[in-house]
Parts: sequence; structure tokens; C-alpha cells
Amino acid sequence: MTRVDPVEGLASLADVVRSFGLRTHKSLGQNFLLDLNITRKIARSAGRLDGYTVIEIGPGPGGLTRALLLEGAARVVAIEMDRRCVEALAPLQEAAGNRLELLQGDALKVDLELFIAGPTKIVANLPYNVATPLIMGWLPLLPLIESFTLMLQKEVGARFEAAPNTKAYGRVSVLTQWQAHVTTLFDVPPHVFLPPPKVMSSVVHFEARRTPLYPADPRALDRLLRRAFSHRRKVLRANLKALSSRIEDDLAACGVTPNARAQEVSLEAFCALARRLEGALLQDTLSDDAADDVL
Ligand code: SAM
Repeated sequence: MTRVDPVEGLASLADVVRSFGLRTHKSLGQNFLLDLNITRKIARSAGRLDGYTVIEIGPGPGGLTRALLLEGAARVVAIEMDRRCVEALAPLQEAAGNRLELLQGDALKVDLELFIAGPTKIVANLPYNVATPLIMGWLPLLPLIESFTLMLQKEVGARFEAAPNTKAYGRVSVLTQWQAHVTTLFDVPPHVFLPPPKVMSSVVHFEARRTPLYPADPRALDRLLRRAFSHRRKVLRANLKALSSRIEDDLAACGVTPNARAQEVSLEAFCALARRLEGALLQDTLSDDAADDVL
């Protein structure tokens, strides 16, 4: 099917930033990409887009949005908090017609399930200050959403991909890898952003697994991990002792040595523990709100 080029005749991204006075705000994690070669590379790294709904968080001046449309996305749903950016995207929306839906709002509060229609992917250059809570909030939508392809602060991306026995390994690594294959695709240096962030960035791809890697109740597993990683320097036995009067036996039955720390425990062993301690974990509501910052 031939499509009208949605970008032809539009002002350059630099002109959009200038003419709409898009002075960047640090509090909104605004580091814009104005080079279409880079945004198209990100869009292409998400794999096939033709026939897909693509949800984009934080379109900003629209560099990645343009790229997603140019790479063939059937429908782009773009959710942006900054009203100025939504206004600046009006000409692109007009050019793209019903292929682009723009929503002004806080992505942390938007239920993405409402936009899933047919095969769906998320592709975004995320606001770094809320990237982890956004991704953790989307995990229950896997595999309704086929993949997430996300620009992240490199260090944060590494947490999602981390293996046991590394500093970056934690709750987010286990919960994510349980439900997705995680791969860092490429690094992006600060100088390509406006303004340049102080950190290196990476594009990380999360491909949904058809089913989680090992059986476990998701709530029980999450609560186990919150407890397990709440005091990283303590042995696991100490962090979990409130869950069972025979925690050493429970650990041994799941192949975990008595003095192991959480960061030494594999995903498989965490799932075995979540199954074994499921009754206690499902009643353990204490950790739910208190420990959202346990990574
Ligand atoms: N995609 C654009 C690009 O690549 O040039 C902008 C990326 S910038 C890193 C992050 C964008 O997310 C900004 O436009 C910012 O206004 C927006 N944003 C920040 N917090 C948000 C939130 N909670 N919900 C939706 N958008 C948000």
C-alpha cells in the first residue's frame, strides 16, 4: 500500500523546537533527539512496524514519532505530559491523519491496555526520571504487547539485563527477565541529544516471552523479591525469616545455600522459593506500598 509521506513539507525538528519555544525542562526528563537518522535507527531496531500499533511515551517535538510513521507503523499512539509539545505536534498530526493519536497526560497514570488493538509494540525515548516505574508498570501487559524498545540511561538499562552475581542484578532484573528476553542493542552518546544528558544512554529491547520462564504467582514473586533485595548486604535467610519458621530448610529445598545473598540467587531459584512460600507471601501485604524503590 502506498502511503503519503507524513513528514514531507513539515518544518525541521530544530525549527519546531525554535518556533514553539520548547525550552527543555529537566523535571520532565526532556532530552530531545533532533537527528532523524538516529530516531529512524531506533524505530528500525524495534523490528517490523508495518501493521502494528506503536505506543510512544513522551514524543516531545516528534523526532521519534516521525521515524515510527516513516518506518511504516500502522498507528502511533503518543502520550505526552507537556502541553507545549502536544501543540508543537499538531502539524505532524494533521499530516499523518488517523495514523497518529496524540494524548496529553502523565503516562504513569495511563492504562496502556486501552490502546492495544492487534499487534502492539512500545517504542520510546523515555523520560529517564520515571523510566523504571513506567517499565515495571507495563510488565503485566506482556505478552499483550509484543515488545518494548526503549532509550534508557545506560546504567538503568543494565539493571534490566543484569545476571546474578553482578551489582546491577536485582528485583527489576528478575521480574523483567522472567517475562521478557532483554537485550541492549546499542549505546547512544550524550552529544546527540538537546541538551546533552550527563549520562550515556542505551537502546534496550524487551521481547515478550510467550509464558513466564518458570511457574510462579506474579504477586508472590514480586513480594519475595521486595523482601529479598530490601537489604542487599544481609544474607537472604535474614531478609526472609519473617515468612517461615524453617527458612533454612525452604532455601535448601530450592537449592539456595544458607549464607547466600539475594544477588547470588538465580531466577529459577527465586521462582521455586515463590512457589514454596506462596501462602505466606500472598498474606504478606506489608511490603506492597512500602518498598516500591527496591530495585
Ligand atoms: N521522544 C522525544 C525525542 O526523542 O526527542 C522526547 C524524549 S524526552 C527524553 C522525554 C519526553 O517525555 C519529553 O517530551 C517529556 O515532556 C515527556 N514526559 C516526561 N514525563 C512524562 C510523563 N510522565 N508522561 C508522558 N510524557 C512525559
